[in-house]
Amino acid sequence: MSDIICQRILLKLSGEALMSEAGGSIDPEIVQRLAQEVKDLCDAGIQVGLVIGGGNILRGAEKASEGLNRVTSDQMGMLATVINALAMQDALEYLGQPVRVMTALKINQVCEDYIRRRAVRHLEKGRVAIFAAGTGNPFFTTDTAASLRAIEIDAELMIKATKVKGVYSADPNKVADAVFYPRLTYDEAIDQRLNVMDTTALVLCRDNNLPMRVMNIFEPGAVMRLMRGEDIGSLIVRK
Ligand code: UDP
Repeated sequence: MSDIICQRILLKLSGEALMSEAGGSIDPEIVQRLAQEVKDLCDAGIQVGLVIGGGNILRGAEKASEGLNRVTSDQMGMLATVINALAMQDALEYLGQPVRVMTALKINQVCEDYIRRRAVRHLEKGRVAIFAAGTGNPFFTTDTAASLRAIEIDAELMIKATKVKGVYSADPNKVADAVFYPRLTYDEAIDQRLNVMDTTALVLCRDNNLPMRVMNIFEPGAVMRLMRGEDIGSLIVRK
């Protein structure tokens, strides 16, 4: 284990990471591929907490702009994250990886309630803990939920998975001369309004001194290489 830089991490995947190229909300092959990445980490002895968004199915703010009550639409968004969590649980179990879905909303016949001590116990036993239903409150995002859970479970690092290499001054898919930042502070990300996470999530990480890596999850084996000490993606720190 000496070559591994972290014992416990929190990995945040957006719901869109599960989508097929054709636009299907959940692509089983992609979920299976991501599950294998997570299993490889567990096999190396790393404890993994997972938060998966719900944007591939529903975003509360978007539905609210179409006329739905915001609280109701956010509750629908939180339920969407449970659907994704169940898909990931299934994929991990298929690979033989023990896993538990824990939700911030009570859905006891489908998954466990989120209880911090129990979550930590699952991690210690080598089970992946998938934290679903965000924070359980409307008006928040799963990025904030990921920051919160990472701090609660004492994760040494939060990894925010993206489709690009890391943090840029602008969207590199749209702006040709966007500048890549290998390292930055939370205050820089907030002040320059870099499109990393919402401010609530950034402030939570900053104030609790939780370092974060923003990196491309679709580069096979990249998370494992990061765990072995390679400098991959962008590192965001307090100072
Ligand atoms: N959501 C919420 N409270 C939370 C987390 C999420 O109300 O604590 C709702 C919100 O409507 C959000 C949706 O769930 O739009 C899906 O989460 P998010 O947009 O963060 O997913 P991602 O963009 O990561 O796929």
